[in-house]
Amino acid sequence: MAKQGNIRISSENMMPIIKKWLYSDKDIFLREIVANGIDAITKYKKLTDMGEAPAFDGEFCIKVSIDKDAKTLTVEDNGLGMTENEVEQYITQIAFSGAADFLSKYEKAGGDGIIGHFGLGFYSAYMVSENIEIFTKSYREDAKGVHWESDGESTYTIEECDIAERGTKIVMHIADSEKEFLEEGTIRNLIDKYCSFMPYNIYLNFAGKDDKPLNDTAPLYLKNPKDCTEDEYKEFYRKTFHDYHDPLFWIHLNMDYPFRLKGILYFPKVNNKVELERGQVKLYCNQVFIADNIKEVIPEYLLLLKGVIDCPDIPLNVSRSFLQNDRQVQKISKHIVKKVADKLTGLYKTDKEKYETCWNDISVFVKLGCLKDEDFYSKVKDIIVFKDLDGKYQTLGQFTGAAKEESSESNAAEENNEGKKEETKEPSTVYYVSDEVGQAQYISMFKASGLNAIVCDTFIDPHFISYLEFKESGKYKFLRIDADVDAALKADEQTDNKELEEAFKASLKNTQIAVKAEKFKNESVPAIINVSEYSRRFGEMNAFYGMAGADTDRDMTIVLNTANPIIAAFASLDDTKKKFVANQVYYLAMLSYKKLSPEEMKDFSDNTETLLKEYIG
Ligand code: ADP
Ligand code: MG
Repeated sequence: MAKQGNIRISSENMMPIIKKWLYSDKDIFLREIVANGIDAITKYKKLTDMGEAPAFDGEFCIKVSIDKDAKTLTVEDNGLGMTENEVEQYITQIAFSGAADFLSKYEKAGGDGIIGHFGLGFYSAYMVSENIEIFTKSYREDAKGVHWESDGESTYTIEECDIAERGTKIVMHIADSEKEFLEEGTIRNLIDKYCSFMPYNIYLNFAGKDDKPLNDTAPLYLKNPKDCTEDEYKEFYRKTFHDYHDPLFWIHLNMDYPFRLKGILYFPKVNNKVELERGQVKLYCNQVFIADNIKEVIPEYLLLLKGVIDCPDIPLNVSRSFLQNDRQVQKISKHIVKKVADKLTGLYKTDKEKYETCWNDISVFVKLGCLKDEDFYSKVKDIIVFKDLDGKYQTLGQFTGAAKEESSESNAAEENNEGKKEETKEPSTVYYVSDEVGQAQYISMFKASGLNAIVCDTFIDPHFISYLEFKESGKYKFLRIDADVDAALKADEQTDNKELEEAFKASLKNTQIAVKAEKFKNESVPAIINVSEYSRRFGEMNAFYGMAGADTDRDMTIVLNTANPIIAAFASLDDTKKKFVANQVYYLAMLSYKKLSPEEMKDFSDNTETLLKEYIG
């Protein structure tokens, strides 16, 4: 006769709540059930190691199987098993009260939940099952088989039964609404996601000796870095992230004290200037997958990397906000940041060439890290490089020659002592290009005048340069190559050009734009458009935040180059020709700055056609 019992913890109300709250994460039930099997095997192995249980020379493993007709999903282990008393105690009492406990914590956590729903345990299987049976036989001598069954709500039965082998079999009768968990594909994916590094073989629908386990019981990240080869790192990356581009480089974390942390962080090849693809940093706890991309544990910008982190010391059955403020977690997070910064600095120092080839892929990550984390910024600020117009990579210090200046200045300061130190230094002007194609004309003028600029063309650069100006307070002033450009390009001696400026302005159809004439060092270009850096940035910021008045044309000036033959001849033209030339010069300048308006474009085409006709004669 089967014994019946009432479940003492009031669980009638638990199920609906659990189902509702955990709906999106109910997948975790399989992890919990398989992990229990793994625990049972680990415990049994320990007992045999201590001589308290007979040795076992078969294969320790977990077998998962699906019976669609019977609508069951079964997980079987050959671990230590349970006696009748143990089932009563561990399942009916501990598992159920564990779930109640979990629920109260979950409730307290409010909206932000508990990471990976860790701690729900055996009971989580009721999220998908209408009924669960346990068949188990303890390793203990003379132990009898036990059959337990419950719908998880109020009552259960328990009885003796015949079982041949030691171990536990959990038979989940899948609810009609959860039929997907009877699909092999679904279960395979779940095992792949949650169980892929669990320490004993896991089989799905085991078919015999030659069957292959689904998991990797000794993942590379657990090994000593000394014993890992480059190929193994790449192979592990491919298998884990299904990314067939090799990673750029990686960091193997391996630490036991003061906290346990193992894992590998990969820098993926991104090469995407417009958008950042979020990477995947998987968090494990003793080889059991917990969740992806946990920003409470590692800083968000590090989530652009791909990797595996196994950290058994993170308290997972607490709320996310608690986790974020946990001292231990903060230490772990700091350690990871330090390792990443060390890796980058090391690479910069020992293999500059590789560093430069990787820079395009990692620069956005590094810059984002700087914006988000001052600590990180101070660790990497001296290895942030910029590509210049010759394709050479330099730090800002190198680019502005600050390194040299600073040392010579300190000499001067010694000689001069007081007074001099008080003086604030003028910021170094750094010209930058945000669009190498669109700003090609400015670039060629810069080069012709022997000037250089850096390329800042990722979406994060506008924010990053503002940050640098602020952080390095007054050390650098960034100007886009088309901003206040005459300051860089004009020749040393200038003449008065008032008349020319007025005549040109009077001939222009665009009455908004200011006109200025200056003699450039180089005669090649008749005019360029000049926009105040700060009003342009202001406009861009407004546009970025979707605010009105995002007018980037504010404070636009056309700067005429009096060294250019066309401009030099301008004064001697008649009024009709002045009009024609002024507007055409303006259109040309505008074309290399940004697009023309439709009317302007029409006018430009008409003028060009007139020119062609005259040319043909
Ligand atoms: P936890 O694993 O966190 O202890 P669970 O709810 O997952 O909580 O399981 C409760 C208890 O039930 C376990 O501690 C264990 O003693 C027992 N148990 C569950 N599954 C098995 C199994 N497959 N073999 C042996 N014991 C098990
Ligand atoms: Mg468990």
